[in-house]
Amino acid sequence: MSDIIHLLPDAVANQIAAGEVIQRPASVVKELLENAVDAGANNIQLIVKDAGRTLIQVVDDGKGMSFKDARLCFERHATSKLNTADDLFRLTTKGFRGEALASIAAIAHVELKTKMADENTGTQLLIEGSEVKEHTMTACNDGTSISVKNLFFNVPARRNFLKSDSVEFSHIEEEFYRVSLTHCNLSFSLFHNGKAVLQLKPSNLKIRIVSVFGDHFKDKLYPIEQNTDFMNISGFIAKPENAKKKKSEQYMFINNRYVRHPLLNFAVENAYSELIPDGYKPAYFINIDVDPSTIDINISPTKVEVKLQDERLVYGFLNSTVKKSIGQMALTPQIDFDYEPGMDVTNLPPGTALRQPEVRHDPNYNPFHSQSSCGSSMHKSSMSGSTKFDTSGWSDFLKGLQTENVESKSVENLKFDLPESTNEPDVEDYKFITIDNKFIVAQINNNLTLVHIANAYERILYEKYLSALQSKPIGVQQSLFPETITLTAAKAEMLNDLKPELQSLGYELESIDATHFAVNGTPDGETEDNLQDVIDSFLESYRTNIFLHHSGKNENAAMSLAKQKCHRFTFLNSTLEIKGFLRQLMECQIQNVSPSGKKIIHQWAPTDLLSLFDK
Ligand code: ADP
Ligand code: MG
Repeated sequence: MSDIIHLLPDAVANQIAAGEVIQRPASVVKELLENAVDAGANNIQLIVKDAGRTLIQVVDDGKGMSFKDARLCFERHATSKLNTADDLFRLTTKGFRGEALASIAAIAHVELKTKMADENTGTQLLIEGSEVKEHTMTACNDGTSISVKNLFFNVPARRNFLKSDSVEFSHIEEEFYRVSLTHCNLSFSLFHNGKAVLQLKPSNLKIRIVSVFGDHFKDKLYPIEQNTDFMNISGFIAKPENAKKKKSEQYMFINNRYVRHPLLNFAVENAYSELIPDGYKPAYFINIDVDPSTIDINISPTKVEVKLQDERLVYGFLNSTVKKSIGQMALTPQIDFDYEPGMDVTNLPPGTALRQPEVRHDPNYNPFHSQSSCGSSMHKSSMSGSTKFDTSGWSDFLKGLQTENVESKSVENLKFDLPESTNEPDVEDYKFITIDNKFIVAQINNNLTLVHIANAYERILYEKYLSALQSKPIGVQQSLFPETITLTAAKAEMLNDLKPELQSLGYELESIDATHFAVNGTPDGETEDNLQDVIDSFLESYRTNIFLHHSGKNENAAMSLAKQKCHRFTFLNSTLEIKGFLRQLMECQIQNVSPSGKKIIHQWAPTDLLSLFDK
């Protein structure tokens, strides 16, 4: 039998490689822009026609190529950026496998014009489907211009797979943003079908973000910076109230290279977890500088995925840096867009052990007081509503409450112990009613105010549990007939580990065997109806939080129990109970957002209400 194995011709091999590197016009844009940056260009122009189907051209004023290099650059594994495999771990450029141009040339018609500054003439090269059609000397500007026409002319499957022009162009824009955001010192311009779409002058990151995403970003961002001798973090994060429900502008760069890294993205989102509602996404623009030898970019042909040597360390550092900035944001009265963070952020001295800083809250700040000293809009504004949370008027309300004997009662006690108010309601009373036991409706300073009871209760419980875990354990009421609960082996193990925390929260548990526990005591003053469900759901939520890398053990335990209990609220029967409840909310450090990020209070001014009737 004759031999059947043969080597694939280069053109075919390149075409196959192109399948990995070049998925759509935007992939070409990314590779060409990155090459221009690597060539040391100061001005980079991207010219696109028909969302890249007919033309993608990048013109740069970088170092250019010699006559021979202009030919070589289209060979596979032809690169000036590395010599040995080890160099992959020392990369400071954006290239790495010398594959991009070879791949592009295999599936398009490419025209290259290039000239080095110290040469008199330049080079022109035409290549179509890996076949060189022309290689001549030519007169041209210093730098390089590469035009890619008729992309996928010989790969109909790919061409048919392309989406509409608007979708493809938005991918192109996205690549353009990613490169231009990491190289603010360079000027970039983008033209589509003969029209200038974006022209970016050399600037700094904040101006670049605003130039790219619009003026409204100006007030939405807060700087973040933290330096150590093994990692530097810098950039901007959005204020919590500017989080968006849909995909937000989230840009993570490592060593000035855009990366997609779910864990790092989570490190940022998690830092907001108590401050934005579930499902909302904060915008961020963060660059992490690490030693190139500690990352591996060789895991995907498009270089967007990277592997970090010590993911946990980077995660923890990033998470605490963002938390710290959010905490500072709360204390900075007016966010000054030109505020430079490096000056008052305590930089860790070399060798300092990393600690998770707490989110700092201003203990004196109370949105229910009208003359609050802290003007953080984080607390003041309603999360997604357009109305500001007007706090004036709450102080009168507070004074009213102080004269009543409700301040020492806990919410639980209120439910069971407070007598029904049988007296004639006083003048203040008409201001508070409940709807469906889900909302408290209050008229405060002429504003209609809605308080979401379950979310508020979650906040009250969370802060109460946290203080129980830190210093004031909740009393235990011994059960006459201990209930037995059954758990899976994994949850039983978790429960054994959490026994001291649950004890502080009022639950005394004793293991009977590997999966059964007796609940010998429950929180003082509370009637527990379904302990099996409470403990089981508590452990479930605790485990989810661990998995999602939530903060410390105490915070996680407090948050998990509060989440279980907030829906087990019975009824706020009387005005007195409502007031007692609101009073406890007022005593919380944060009143406007529940620990799982849900909005608690929303207000409407009379003008907002009138506008409902305008139509
Ligand atoms: P890589 O960027 O991984 O090296 P490419 O295929 O993208 O691989 O490019 C191959 C080589 O061509 C580069 O290493 C570089 O030397 C040269 N090159 C590509 N684009 C340019 C450019 N715009 N200006 C100067 N040289 C370039
Ligand atoms: Mg390249």
